[in-house]
Amino acid sequence: MTATSSADLALLRSAVKGEVHAPGDSGYDEGRSIWNAQIDRRPAAVVMAAGPDDVAAAIGFARENGLEISVRGGGHNTGGYAVGDGGLMINLARLNSVEVDVENRRAKVGGGALLADLDAATQAHGLATPGGMVSHTGVGGLTLGGGMGWLTRLHGLTIDNLTGAEVVLADGRIVWASETEHADLFWALRGGGGNFGVVTTFEFALHPVGPMVSVGLFFWEVERATDALRMLRDKVPSIPQDSNVIIGLLNAPPAPFVPAEHHFQPGVLLVLVGFGSPEDHAAQCAEVGAALEPLFSFATPMPYVALQQMQDEATAHGQFCYEKGTQLAELSDGAIDVFVSHLGRRTVPTSQVLFYRLDHAYSAVAENATAYGATRTPRYATMLVALTPNMEAWEAERQWVRNLWTDLQPYSLGIGDYVNNMVEFDAERILASYGPEKYARLAGIKAVYDPENLFRRNVNIPPAG
Ligand code: FAD
Repeated sequence: MTATSSADLALLRSAVKGEVHAPGDSGYDEGRSIWNAQIDRRPAAVVMAAGPDDVAAAIGFARENGLEISVRGGGHNTGGYAVGDGGLMINLARLNSVEVDVENRRAKVGGGALLADLDAATQAHGLATPGGMVSHTGVGGLTLGGGMGWLTRLHGLTIDNLTGAEVVLADGRIVWASETEHADLFWALRGGGGNFGVVTTFEFALHPVGPMVSVGLFFWEVERATDALRMLRDKVPSIPQDSNVIIGLLNAPPAPFVPAEHHFQPGVLLVLVGFGSPEDHAAQCAEVGAALEPLFSFATPMPYVALQQMQDEATAHGQFCYEKGTQLAELSDGAIDVFVSHLGRRTVPTSQVLFYRLDHAYSAVAENATAYGATRTPRYATMLVALTPNMEAWEAERQWVRNLWTDLQPYSLGIGDYVNNMVEFDAERILASYGPEKYARLAGIKAVYDPENLFRRNVNIPPAG
């Protein structure tokens, strides 16, 4: 293979400051690995970029040698867009610095940083920006697709807090995009995924958060799942903006706060987090408990950073995953019946359904202000997740997710979804997510910044024309 001969790789090595790993090199397997163990792809080489110039050199090398580019931020994307067979992987893991400007409440964050890096640096000053709910997720992919988490009802999506980005373009230029510079590119970065270039620095607005927050956890057994979901349907939308919830259909974890006799029991979980006063949060918890007495519950103050890490262990690297998402305007009786009837059809206890509540600050942003791939009316972003310890179980659980997704469609807001949940390239769903107008605008911007579609290992938007 001439494109990646050792002579060629020697040229690439001499052009970059970071390491270049070829198959057989120590560092190659670690460099190419991603979160989802189900994906095991072997690029021709992995560049551990040390800065934007390395990224530009790697892009140029890939183009000259006809290698497909993949970009790895945190490696969390379940579809494995970060790695391809036989291509050039640009791994951003070394670009994980976070600089906090306390006075102006801004953070500059490396394109390969994890949420854990961002949260640790900002919380040292009692500040935060909305991210996801698992701290080993990459800031890069999460942000470029939208980014939803505990702070989304209060401060919006991650992209709603993005104020600028340093981007390495397909032609090797390094530019700053913001409301005033390359404004079209800046709009596209806020939801359009990795289609437009490699982001080496993100700049975010920060807000005072915590450092302590109030956490309440409730669990109802599967026999009362319908009652619990109906009760939550009525209660959740009226919970004040400075609180947020996650609802889960899952098996109770073997955690210290779960009574031993309920470990692994299937049912409905509610986590209710308060960012306001502990008294208000206690009152909200009391209201939920009075509406339907839980099988067990638990409440505690907790550092925001610990909240962000609460699901880290359950979602550790190395599991086999498949997922699909759908969006629900409400938990209708029909949808609840579908969820409850499918819960018993799982073949492993680790597969689950998660509901993220999106309203308030999420819905306050105008539909076309960003390129975000879903609409902004209040809703539940619903994630159907197959999580298995091996490939054998994965196939059965993938079918469980697909069947559940199909049966939910009559109750959902359509086939479009949050693009960060799309693990399979599906042009019809991508178009449905953005809608024709946003999609056409994105395709036009793609034609300007990446006319050859060099950045195509993603939820791809081919260039217009
Ligand atoms: P990667 O796989 O590295 O990248 C994903 C895509 O983004 C790829 O196409 C890649 O090329 C591109 N990309 C990454 N970084 C850059 C960059 N700097 N410049 C250009 N392109 C880049 N999402 C939420 O919104 N909220 C959650 O709470 C949440 N929780 C999650 C929990 C788990 C366990 C998992 C697996 C996923 C979760 N997600 C969540 C989904 C997450 O947003 C996506 O998986 C996202 O793609 C992860 O970004 P990454 O950088 O880790 O992924």
